Amino acid sequence: MDLFGEALAKAESDCRGLSFEDVTALLGAGEVERPRLYALADRVRSRRLGEEVHLRGIIEFSNYCTGTCLYCGLRSGGERVHRYRMEPAEILEAAGEAAGMGLKTIVLQSGEDPFYTVKILSGVISAIKKLDVAVTLSVGVRTPEELRAFREAGADRYLLKHETADPALFARLRPGTTLADRVGSLRLLKRLGYQAGSGGMVGLPGQTAPSVARDLLLMRDLDVEMAGLGPFIPHPGTPLGGSPAGSLEMTLTVLAVARLVMPEVHLPATTALGTIDPRGRGLALRCGANVIMPNVTPRRYRSHYSIYPGKTGVDRDPYASVREMRLLIESLGRREAAGYGHSPKKAYSE
Ligand code: SAH
Ligand code: SF4
Repeated sequence: MDLFGEALAKAESDCRGLSFEDVTALLGAGEVERPRLYALADRVRSRRLGEEVHLRGIIEFSNYCTGTCLYCGLRSGGERVHRYRMEPAEILEAAGEAAGMGLKTIVLQSGEDPFYTVKILSGVISAIKKLDVAVTLSVGVRTPEELRAFREAGADRYLLKHETADPALFARLRPGTTLADRVGSLRLLKRLGYQAGSGGMVGLPGQTAPSVARDLLLMRDLDVEMAGLGPFIPHPGTPLGGSPAGSLEMTLTVLAVARLVMPEVHLPATTALGTIDPRGRGLALRCGANVIMPNVTPRRYRSHYSIYPGKTGVDRDPYASVREMRLLIESLGRREAAGYGHSPKKAYSE
């Protein structure tokens, strides 16, 4: 048997035993091999997690950012960005609307924006928790004390992608920060009792195939509850504006292999994948993904949250976005999960 075939057989019988060489062989799947890889990832998803798809309503509440990540359209100094901040009352209203539509998780995402002090953000978190929903934060790097305070205010999960497991590439793309620090923050989040989400971009300029294998093994090692993997999309206002985007095939391959490496992880069909191809999210749900994140940001702000260009859904309101995702789930013969959608790991079960 060839290396790919051997690795696939091993994934079928003993997911946890996949080595770096196995993961590399799976990621190298060519056109002929991909359908087998996708089919196995879909079976593992179905066997371990069932047919339920979790909806997470995301509110992009501020696009101010002190960060200078080379890939991101919101980086500080990006003059073409119209900056906005939602008032706490506005965030709460958007969360109430999402909860009213039956969503059981609210994701609060922003640039790294010090305007939202511990006091302000903790107040928002505890008010949203009264809506009987789970809360995920995705607000970038914060001090250990802040992270503890947000947890005490009721935040359940924290999404902080490691972006790339290649330390040199990480340092180049995120000036002034290190992969080691990012990984340290992820370990701290776990210790604080958060369900931790990491992830990365596929097709970053300078990214190597072995480093993508390391992305997946790093997340297995960290024992994260969620893995957000989407294609890199060049933003014209950034230093990487002239680089090519990550491809649909490569992203689906990485998702499928992620499902095999981490059989019970929550794996979103990302908005970035839906942006590079209108079929992207549907295909992702059929090769391992089990989460989808409808945008519930008020329509007037959406076009300004331009992390990457051409983001799908900026012309819709929250109701249309949620409806679109529900129709997609139905069209695939799957069903929407009813609970909070915590990790299936014992410590978090509902
Ligand atoms: N400021 C926070 C959260 C917002 S950014 C943070 O950085 O953690 C959310 C995610 O957007 C990042 O983790 C990154 O993976 C993704 N992102 C940024 N620029 C992107 C691009 N050009 N293409 C695809 N994804 C991008
Ligand atoms: Fe800021 Fe996050 Fe964009 Fe980096 S990826 S510039 S931290 S919003």
